[in-house]
Amino acid sequence: MERSFKKEVEALRLGDGETFRGEGILAVTKALLQSGVSYVGGYQGAPVSHLLDVLVDAEDIMGELGVHLETCSNEASAAAMLGASINYPLRGAVTWKSIVGTNVAADALSNLASPGVVGGAMIILGEDYGEGASVIQERSYAYALKSSMWLLDPRPDLPSIVRTVENGFELSEASHAPVMLELRIRACHATGEFAASANRKPEFSGINRIPEAARFNYGKLAHPPVTFVQEKLKVEERLPAARAFIREHRLNETIAGDLDDTGIIVMGGLTNSVLRALERMGLADVFGASRVPMLVLNVVYPLVPEEIREFCASKRAVLVVEEGNPDFIEQAVNVELRKADIQTKVLGKGPLPQAGEYTSDVLLEGLAAFLQATRPKGIDADTVAEKARGLIAHKPKAAAALGDLPPRPPAFCTGCPERPVFSALKLMQRELGPAHISADIGCHSFATFAPFSMGNSILGYGMSLASAAAVGPNLSKRPIAVMGDGGFWHNGLITGVASNLFNKGDGVLIVMQNGYASATGQQWIPSSTANRDGPATGMSIEQTLRAMGVNWLRTVRSYSVAAMTKTLKEAMKTAEKGLKVIIADGECQLARQRRVRAEDAEKLKRGMRVTRARFGVDDEICTGDHSCIRLSGCPSLTVKPSPDPLRTDPVAHVVDSCVGCGLCGEVAHAAVLCPSFYRAEIVRNATWRDRVLFRIRQTVIGWLGGYNIRRAKSDAGAAA
Ligand code: SF4
Ligand code: SF4
Repeated sequence: MERSFKKEVEALRLGDGETFRGEGILAVTKALLQSGVSYVGGYQGAPVSHLLDVLVDAEDIMGELGVHLETCSNEASAAAMLGASINYPLRGAVTWKSIVGTNVAADALSNLASPGVVGGAMIILGEDYGEGASVIQERSYAYALKSSMWLLDPRPDLPSIVRTVENGFELSEASHAPVMLELRIRACHATGEFAASANRKPEFSGINRIPEAARFNYGKLAHPPVTFVQEKLKVEERLPAARAFIREHRLNETIAGDLDDTGIIVMGGLTNSVLRALERMGLADVFGASRVPMLVLNVVYPLVPEEIREFCASKRAVLVVEEGNPDFIEQAVNVELRKADIQTKVLGKGPLPQAGEYTSDVLLEGLAAFLQATRPKGIDADTVAEKARGLIAHKPKAAAALGDLPPRPPAFCTGCPERPVFSALKLMQRELGPAHISADIGCHSFATFAPFSMGNSILGYGMSLASAAAVGPNLSKRPIAVMGDGGFWHNGLITGVASNLFNKGDGVLIVMQNGYASATGQQWIPSSTANRDGPATGMSIEQTLRAMGVNWLRTVRSYSVAAMTKTLKEAMKTAEKGLKVIIADGECQLARQRRVRAEDAEKLKRGMRVTRARFGVDDEICTGDHSCIRLSGCPSLTVKPSPDPLRTDPVAHVVDSCVGCGLCGEVAHAAVLCPSFYRAEIVRNATWRDRVLFRIRQTVIGWLGGYNIRRAKSDAGAAA
């Protein structure tokens, strides 16, 4: 990992009664250490990447406590780690981004949940749902239901989050089932404070190892015939034990309110949003007191029937605030009340939308509709609803007044080594016609936006080659799959490459070898030049592919647009059958800049010579056709007014953020564009050689300039 969390790590050492201040996801990290975990692991992905990153930087503390840390190759291997808690009294936690990570981990999770655990096992899910999400909009709830794993959804404030982590391990041990803790993006990044406790040394760990391996016990395997027994255990023992624990330890909360002929049942993670909406309507205060009674579900699965009945029995109507689809909780509440013959009306989807994030405005609308439909005694529902709608009434007018704003899709960083590969793909297709492109997860998926607009499908992380398997045999032209090196190690190696070779597939695979899992914050991957312990592990994509039997394999510097275009054409046209792999090699520019800037600053401090390349456009030569922009899409490449009054088209212009990656020159050369690009070198702490060279160049340029002026004057004289 390139980014350092050394400062955040210090907070992990806080002891009893000291105040922890920071982000929600860091509070989880501290709570894990306070809970006495023996092992932690996971696979990076927003919004929980920080959790692993911080633990990686906290190796000293982890070492003192004997906690084992594993940075897993994917979510499946992280989930399988929890197998340690099946036989041993070891608490463990793993983390990943959901829903996608949970999909990858699903097999191991089912096989974990069936035999159950003796040590507390926790999965911390970055529930990437809502407006800031980067994945498919699905809920992790379904996994909790189908596998009988309990789903915690704490109120997004730090004391609640920490308490839920600690209670979660106890719940897991009391019911012998794994628990999942879901944290939405906002909860991960909510800042606050809590009174810390001292970190707990686990009973067994790397320091104090378990003396004997567990004795063979068939009941600990997820294998028939015991799976039939385990299914019964889930519903007959673990579920009642979990419900008893949740009720006894008051994991769910109630907020009393005077408008008590109605109420709100809310997922814990949405509590603050609902309270804020009520506060804006004048029905709550900023400290969390509400006039409408609330049942806050810090555990959203399993529900505790007694709690539902007790909360609803005296009410005419309740609103279930459950984000996302399907309405699992609303259905369960309905069933529970009908079974108990309680006639409380249950509203949820209807006043609130069926799908999409429950933002503050959405909740205002939904609560207003609920109040008008149920008319709680003690308020004038119409007046409150009118007030709520008044709070957001100006927004459509403001939007109309502003008109359509230009979309700002995410894009490759300035100087990204993956951008030139798509420039080459454009040039190749210009000559050979359009190709089917299977895209993948990673920074390279930014090529699905303009100016590249490439990618026919995205089927998951590392799945591009596999998703082209049935395309190739049905298309006249070879399909192209694009995959990052992160995706290659995550899944692509087996799911894509092994399957393709096994099936004697034909097609082209481009592996973007940038050296990191870049999109998630630059974590090391097996083929990185280093890992968290220092030197590289020595795993090479090229050698792996050769060992697997890939014969047609080229490694091309990703910035060499001409060479890449030529290689792509060759891969598409060669008579040779079988998989053709192009490794596009170029270090992630963001990581490179972080590294190089720190190195340069150090050199400057020591008075050493430092150079920086910059590209520019000679605006006297630029014709203003902007093909360079269409072929590159670099945010540092823009336009400015032409200095020539006879040319109205704006000319291309390179702004100061250019990192001198060289793509501009490469594209101009490969696409046979105009020769307007120049490369300049900015030298700091120049040596005497630099100064002499500079003077010579200035003199020669001066002569040439003078010669040109003299020639122009004589041409003008001749014309006269
Ligand atoms: S993080 Fe690295 S690989 Fe990703 S877009 Fe930026 S430069 Fe490219
Ligand atoms: S050289 Fe061109 S493509 Fe590279 S960073 Fe500068 S403007 Fe962007």
